Amino acid sequence: MKVTKVLTASLLALSLVALSGCGKEQTPVGGTSGDVLTQPFTEVTKINGQVFGTFYYITVPGGYPGGEDTLRSDAEFVFTKVGKAISTFDKTAEIARFNEHHSTGDFPISSYLGQVLEEVQRQSRRIGQAMDPTVGPLVNLWGFGPKGQIEHAPTDEQIAETKTYVGLDKFSLRRAGGTAFLVKTDPRVELDLSTIGEGLAADELAAIMDQKGVANYMIAIAGAIRSKGANPEGKLWRVGIEDPLSNGQKVFTAVCPQGMAISTAGSYRNFFIDDKTNDFYSHVIDPKTGRPIAHRTVSVSVVDRAALVTDALDTGLLVMGAKEAVEWGNKNDVAVYAIEIDEQGKAKETHSRAFDVYLKCQVHHNLTQTVPLE
Ligand code: ADP
Ligand code: MG
Repeated sequence: MKVTKVLTASLLALSLVALSGCGKEQTPVGGTSGDVLTQPFTEVTKINGQVFGTFYYITVPGGYPGGEDTLRSDAEFVFTKVGKAISTFDKTAEIARFNEHHSTGDFPISSYLGQVLEEVQRQSRRIGQAMDPTVGPLVNLWGFGPKGQIEHAPTDEQIAETKTYVGLDKFSLRRAGGTAFLVKTDPRVELDLSTIGEGLAADELAAIMDQKGVANYMIAIAGAIRSKGANPEGKLWRVGIEDPLSNGQKVFTAVCPQGMAISTAGSYRNFFIDDKTNDFYSHVIDPKTGRPIAHRTVSVSVVDRAALVTDALDTGLLVMGAKEAVEWGNKNDVAVYAIEIDEQGKAKETHSRAFDVYLKCQVHHNLTQTVPLE
């Protein structure tokens, strides 16, 4: 079997494309004149680069205190902090070392990682463990982890065997006297937090900016976005959910996050195809079957308070598929937007009621105080 693996390669390949100041004429949904917040900004600080094997773009209308250099060093501080906690590729990172700790004895971790893991466990339980931080061994088995790509799809026996040490109940987190410990129930248990890395980093950087009193920003780390205030044109920020069929060339719909976090999980970017059977294997694994997802839902976006939360939920909701994901969103009052490819090969969207407000780009009544009016 030949292995084809396509990796995110450019801004246009992002699931979410930051639309900086798109006017009504350029976007499929129109704002009203009410979306003008302030005059266009004369000063804008902008940086971009690569992190966690993907791309980031940060824009600060009105200018960052200390300018571009300070913004870059604040961003790098956050990327290092997050990477040292959760990376599976950096062998010195806490999670990478825990994965190499083939023992059921206590493994001490930072209280920071402990807090992140508690939040991830909470989100995982909310969606019936469709997103599961213990999926690591399955991710490796399917060739999407630090152990490298695979030549042949794993056998049913290998999948069944690996599943015996995957599940939230396969590790525990314990706090004792200001220290946190992780304990495996099986020495082969491995954690994979890569799906929440971008969201976590976006939140951390947003917190630094909020603390510094930065009124307007957009932080886009691959498919995870935090934004606040106005864009460089003095209007509400808009982000585009990528058209999954456009190969990164088109926006499917525009969304105004209005100070909330938004992220998208997609199954159409990172995959391999068996060229004998033409089977498509996505990097998103259904922990219940132990296999890459095999349905027509290709992208799920979530809007919520924190990008760590949206980034955890979008992956699980993508595993569940559009119908279940939108039902879950309606039942739990969470903003969920799913795109599936229908039998005719056309992209179709469905979304939960809570997502409506972000599509209409109306100012959210609870969030008006975050809008800078100077
Ligand atoms: P996306 O933009 O599609 O969310 P990410 O890179 O953020 O992509 O997340 C995908 C990664 O998450 C996979 O490469 C894998 O390491 C991990 N992963 C895959 N399936 C799951 C799952 N069900 N729960 C948690 N993590 C998963
Ligand atoms: Mg995710």
